[in-house]
Amino acid sequence: MVMIKTRYGSETGIDDSALEEFRAGFGGEMLTADDATYTEVREIWNAMIDTRPALIARCQSPDDVILSVNFARDNGLVFSVRGAGHNIAGNSLAEGGLLIDLSPMTGVEVDEDAKTARVQPGATLGDFDNATQAFGLATPTGINSTTGIAGLTLGGGFGWLSRSYGMTIDNLLSADVVTADGELVVASESSHPNLFWGIRGGGGNFGVVTSFEFQLHEVGPEVLSGLIVHDAADAQAALEFYREFAAQAPDALTTWVVMRKAPPLPFLDEAIHGTDVVVFALMYNGDASEGEEVIAPLRAFGTPVGEGIGLNPYVGWQQAFDPLLTPGARNYWKSHNFGELSDDTVAILIRYAQNLPSGFSEIFIAQMGGATSSIASDATAYVGRDAGFVLNVHTRWEDAADDERCVAWAREFFDATLPYASGGAYVNFMTAEESGRIEAAYGQNHERLIAVKDEYDPDNLFQFNQNIAPSGG
Ligand SMILES: Cc1cc2nc3c(=O)[nH]c(=O)nc-3n(C[C@H](O)[C@H](O)[C@H](O)COP(=O)(O)OP(=O)(O)OC[C@H]3O[C@@H](n4cnc5c(N)ncnc54)[C@H](O)[C@@H]3O)c2cc1C
Repeated sequence: MVMIKTRYGSETGIDDSALEEFRAGFGGEMLTADDATYTEVREIWNAMIDTRPALIARCQSPDDVILSVNFARDNGLVFSVRGAGHNIAGNSLAEGGLLIDLSPMTGVEVDEDAKTARVQPGATLGDFDNATQAFGLATPTGINSTTGIAGLTLGGGFGWLSRSYGMTIDNLLSADVVTADGELVVASESSHPNLFWGIRGGGGNFGVVTSFEFQLHEVGPEVLSGLIVHDAADAQAALEFYREFAAQAPDALTTWVVMRKAPPLPFLDEAIHGTDVVVFALMYNGDASEGEEVIAPLRAFGTPVGEGIGLNPYVGWQQAFDPLLTPGARNYWKSHNFGELSDDTVAILIRYAQNLPSGFSEIFIAQMGGATSSIASDATAYVGRDAGFVLNVHTRWEDAADDERCVAWAREFFDATLPYASGGAYVNFMTAEESGRIEAAYGQNHERLIAVKDEYDPDNLFQFNQNIAPSGG
């Protein structure tokens, strides 16, 4: 007998025969706390999350997903859905509930002629890039290769290629979705168009995606990319220069700013390691000699303390930040969108960068615009098309004794920058406690999201996410 939480606040006992029946049709592994691998399997990227599901259904196929959704619904169980388990909020796990675990489904199939890829929902960005780059192809995703394609896509998705080709969702052609009633449907512009609109930014609110079909583009295989590192003492001038440079940069160039303690990068003098720095991280998606000309003013600015720019394999550049974003640390993130980086915003960024609460914490400023802004903000559920920059504060530390101090720092920073933020917020960077921000995060699209929720999940079975509550509550 396994005790599982129900949607009605109680617990129910799933007896051995009911469990056996579930297992009999299920192709994957099924784990409870008694299994040796349970502890390892339940872990997710953010070590702040210590949630214990009662039952883990490790799916191998869409049939396993259908069976799991039906089992959860028919027994009134609380359940969550997990891709690669990267989400900071930890919504991929429900305490005492059923975990529909998609992480074993990592297949990626590329159609070289059509320049498309079919991707299973447990695939990481690394799985995706490795498979597509074998054909010299890629689509915009994120900047850390261990992130899951599923959660990233469902929230919007952006990275080094987004100014060239848009958000990840702008390259989504179709998705196979298991709905709340256990049906497998295709969502695309021509099939279930409302659902297709909703899953492009609305997260896991409407069903379980078992396959994503993406448009690919010719990229690399080598790209001009790398880092230019400045002493934090030059931060004011560096940020002022950056915002002018970014404003006129072509869409092929993406430059992010990172403010942190210098990691032990091979091209940095040892004396620089651990000191406060401002980093320009960039990638040019196009001809490298053209790119060299475009980035020349950025390289000529000031007196960097180090520079590591060159032709890197695209797949390698996609992993460049992996060593700084390893799983197992305690993480608390805060994020805002900005139309521009005003003088006041710059001053606050510098003030907080001077007082990072731990050696691993960092302030990321992602450059948006380009193709991400060329699509109407109501064309997909993702609304933040007007964002020029996305600020994401990666507050990271190791010791639970530092939780209160580090979280307080991040919240204070968030509050200080709030007056300068534009509307909207990227749901993929929001923590579990930010449910009060969801309506504002979706802005004008929130009402239509409720309508799509009413159509596809009126009983709110899919509620472990940045939840869009159906109109019935
Ligand atoms: C280190 C790091 C770097 C990041 N960098 C970027 C970046 O550069 N760009 C960017 O856009 N984002 C970035 N993100 C944010 C990232 O997009 C989200 O954390 C995303 O949710 C991760 O997806 P996942 O599948 O790994 O997450 P999970 O935690 O497995 O899932 C997140 C949520 O998505 C839903 N979900 C997952 N799979 C499915 C499915 N198949 N069907 C239905 N619902 C599903 C569930 O509600 C689940 O709770 C980063 C995150 C981390 C931790």
